[in-house]
Amino acid sequence: MIKDIVILGSTGSIGEQTLDIVRNFQDKYCVKALTANKSAEKLVAQAREFNPEYVVIGDGEYYNFVKEELSGTKCKVFSGKEEINNIAEIECDVVVAAIVGFAGLEPVYKAISKGRKVAIANKEPLVAAGHILIDLAKKSGANILPVDSEHNAIFQCLEKKHKDFVRRIILTASGGPFLNWDIDDIKNVNPEQAIAHPNWSMGAKISVDSATMMNKALEVIEAYHLFAMPFDKIDVVIHPQSIIHSMVEYLDGSVLAQMGAPDMRTPIVYALGWPERVDGISKKLDIFNMNDLQFIKPDYNKFPLLKKAYDCLEAGQAYCIALNSANEIAVEAFLNREIDYSEINSCVEYVLNYIDIGNVSAIDDVIEYDLYSREIAKKYLSARKSK
Ligand code: NAD
Ligand code: MG
Repeated sequence: MIKDIVILGSTGSIGEQTLDIVRNFQDKYCVKALTANKSAEKLVAQAREFNPEYVVIGDGEYYNFVKEELSGTKCKVFSGKEEINNIAEIECDVVVAAIVGFAGLEPVYKAISKGRKVAIANKEPLVAAGHILIDLAKKSGANILPVDSEHNAIFQCLEKKHKDFVRRIILTASGGPFLNWDIDDIKNVNPEQAIAHPNWSMGAKISVDSATMMNKALEVIEAYHLFAMPFDKIDVVIHPQSIIHSMVEYLDGSVLAQMGAPDMRTPIVYALGWPERVDGISKKLDIFNMNDLQFIKPDYNKFPLLKKAYDCLEAGQAYCIALNSANEIAVEAFLNREIDYSEINSCVEYVLNYIDIGNVSAIDDVIEYDLYSREIAKKYLSARKSK
């Protein structure tokens, strides 16, 4: 049976890799809808190739362009945030959540509330609202299938019936481009240096997060929600080769690890095929070339943002929201060359010290708290910029 797929954020790194899989298995998958924010030309090219029923461009400025370019095709073209939310609700076999950042929260919420199978790469909604999304999935019958490689690995290694026998989850981290740099040299790196990831080719935001190791902090919180695991049972180990994608250690001493070449098409195809195993197009793991696997304890002095995950989980979910919001604002400012690299950390620190604990039990509370945290981050950064 051919699976109908909706791809939210189709023009990004995960979106394009998903389409690469579809391109190779047209007998298995059919694209029903594509969405993007501003990458209008890429979206049009994708729509011409995959001929979806619906195409949504988030930014209304590009609507006429996309509409005209796709006239004469079967694609119905829409634009705006609300239309992305609507597309997330349409009938389909799998929704691939590949928008970057908190902006993906509402569409993910909509897809889960419809009981869909959601292949989720977009970690920020899980960080900010995992407590709500997981509950919602239980009620709606949705399956949340992690695409983030570490969580996909844990999903594969964690057997439900053995969950009470887990000693800990071990998330692996590459350590990013500055792993072997001196702390003082890292302070003033530029965006090009920060996004030059040694193992993965990803969008700009997650690449900067990997450099600061905020990505791993977000992933600790993501794991906490996805696997209902106490945070003191979630550890991080730096494994620069990115061959072991994460591990589960059981009380009997067994450690189950999932391995593979660093290729996001492996977790994507796993999620698309679940609960079956299906053919993929990922690079094969060259086992004769993996005899130097390293495992290093993370240095919180070098990567202070990593520790924030544990501090925030202890302080409460509102802090996890603020951690993500402050980081999104700071990373954007850094990528726009408005602030120095070291100010990403100081901005996050400032926001976490400033905020009060809030009630974030409903989705609207989360959205409000995110806005509130962003405002504090923006004020902090604009004061810095005017200095
Ligand atoms: P990207 O920047 O390459 O692509 C983002 C996509 O989201 C694009 O299609 C863009 O048009 C769309 N988008 C951006 N802002 C939007 C908005 N405001 N509204 C609607 N759409 C918007 O990002 P990416 O690297 O593909 O990452 C996507 C998500 O997957 C992120 O949450 C990231 O953390 C996660 N992830 C990515 C990788 C990877 O290898 N790239 C690995 C693990 C997890
Ligand atoms: Mg990851």
